[in-house]
Amino acid sequence: MSDFGGQTGGSAGIRNVADGDDAPLRGFTGSEAGRFRAPRSALRVPSSGPAPHRTRSRLEFQVFRLGLVSCFGLWASCFPAAAAGRTVDTGYPGGNIVLEGITNGVAVVRPDLRDTQKGGWWFYWNFRVRGAAGETVRIRFPERNPIGARGPAASLDGGTNWAWLGAQAVTRIAEPKAWEFAFAVPSNAPEVRFSMTIPYQESDLRRFLERHRGNPAIVREGLCRTTKGREAEILRAGCLGREPGIRVLLTARHHACESLASFALEGILESVLADDEAGRAWRERVEVLAIPFVDKDGVEDGDQGKNRAPRDHNRDYDGTPVHATVAAIRDLVPRWSAGRLRFALDLHCPYLAGGDSNEQVYFPGPEDAIAAERLAGFAALLAEVRRGPIPYSPKYNVPFGTSWNTASNYSTGRSFARWARDLPGVEFSNTIEIPYANAGGAEVNADSARAFGRDLARAIAIHLGLVPRPAR
Ligand SMILES: [Zn+2]
Repeated sequence: MSDFGGQTGGSAGIRNVADGDDAPLRGFTGSEAGRFRAPRSALRVPSSGPAPHRTRSRLEFQVFRLGLVSCFGLWASCFPAAAAGRTVDTGYPGGNIVLEGITNGVAVVRPDLRDTQKGGWWFYWNFRVRGAAGETVRIRFPERNPIGARGPAASLDGGTNWAWLGAQAVTRIAEPKAWEFAFAVPSNAPEVRFSMTIPYQESDLRRFLERHRGNPAIVREGLCRTTKGREAEILRAGCLGREPGIRVLLTARHHACESLASFALEGILESVLADDEAGRAWRERVEVLAIPFVDKDGVEDGDQGKNRAPRDHNRDYDGTPVHATVAAIRDLVPRWSAGRLRFALDLHCPYLAGGDSNEQVYFPGPEDAIAAERLAGFAALLAEVRRGPIPYSPKYNVPFGTSWNTASNYSTGRSFARWARDLPGVEFSNTIEIPYANAGGAEVNADSARAFGRDLARAIAIHLGLVPRPAR
């Protein structure tokens, strides 16, 4: 391993790190110290909570040296943060990391692929560092880069609010190949969480529902017990007091790590509940059924969830279902629909970054020509009526037979969108991909993804004839 900590320049240096208080950086030399550019407002340290741990630089990461294990929950309980050094753990919903070791104070980590089909790789990670107030933490991912278009996301308030640290926070190391970022923890921050995404857990859903508490137009119910004994939720919203004319089905998190999709789902539901013409039309005529966490266990356990062994949740829609939640969806939806389901949308996030479409919102096109034509119509409508910060153009859609969207991609099983398309009365059933961090140059975050969800709801409302299409 290279002596990374001893280098003071060249490509291996850390370029853009500083804390939020303009203080000099410990552990960095000369011009290598840059600026931490995440919005300060989004990275506020909560005023209540435990006092910052006193730290001593010589003890930094001391617990790492006590023996490296990959189970951080166990590790954290054996060596709590009170051990006077920095601690890393994943002992909270969504946590995921494997610690490879410590090199000159740099934590070398990898995504934990425990749920993934053999030989597969994916990029989800999410972990916490405690006991580093006023210190700089340095994190290195060897071999493959699991950091997206706007760098890592960080939270200083226990995972409620997050900000992207920016692509400039990440340094590529040539030999041995690695990607590294550093973060100067504010002196009043007892902990910081880092993730490749802006996570969305059950606790976030509870906060959303709390904001709408007492509203009779949205109810939370149980879908089923998951394989691990959790309750998977369904949300029903809109026209609930009587038989609706139209039903709409929304799903998210077939792939556990695709968390930005969940903020878009919130945005759609906000529109259904809104005190405006479209909101009233939704509640007058449409019942929405939303399944916020299809892979509920994966979301809470911190699995990445894509190409899960033995079967991906989004390939579990033929044959005997492997997953309890998918079995429950396949049982419930046809009965609930009663022939009135018109529109089904499965919300996803694409690959981490790069490529032709991973930094654009897009729909993978269906194989069926009529379904493809209907998608084209909806895509044009969405492009026309969207108002939020996230752009959308149909030209980034991935037609069937191109890129990854080919028959071989579905050889292991049927997807949700294909399954729902064949239900009686369904006119539209598709998947949408909402990027993790960068969409057509716009920042994707909790707020902008919610705004995009409201844009989707506007297009759906027009598509269903709830409100007129605006004059051009
Ligand atoms: Zn997905």
